[in-house]
Amino acid sequence: MLLPCGMALDERDLFNERPETRSGRYQCPRCRRTGDYSVRWTRRSKKDRLPSGASAEDRAKFDKVRDYLLRLDDEVTCTACGKRFEIPSQQSVMFADQFAGLPNDDELEQEIKEAAGEPEPEPEVEKKPALPARFTRKSMGWK
Ligand SMILES: [Zn+2]
Repeated sequence: MLLPCGMALDERDLFNERPETRSGRYQCPRCRRTGDYSVRWTRRSKKDRLPSGASAEDRAKFDKVRDYLLRLDDEVTCTACGKRFEIPSQQSVMFADQFAGLPNDDELEQEIKEAAGEPEPEPEVEKKPALPARFTRKSMGWK
């Protein structure tokens, strides 16, 4: 796979990966109904240190990288009419510090539910879409 700026190290050498689900509210282009959807992301957290044997160049790169999130889902399935549609106007790569400024609907909902004393509902099982070719996308903004 191609890495931005010809980075020699694999991203797995730089980051720890953790799956993360966030909810978003989107409108279906067919039936115009708005619904809440779970969107899967992968959070890549910078490791504490590089593996031994990393070159000085690798270290310089490592110093510059930041935690970021990669969106895994490109589409959601409308809960009302069943049409699959693309997630509108949302970046597929975001840096963690950008993300931190956004409200997390999951946590908010959880708080509301806890306040109301309702048990958490079972997560909806939906058909898993194939993984998108996420490494072929636009530059991730390495500087
Ligand atoms: Zn729909």
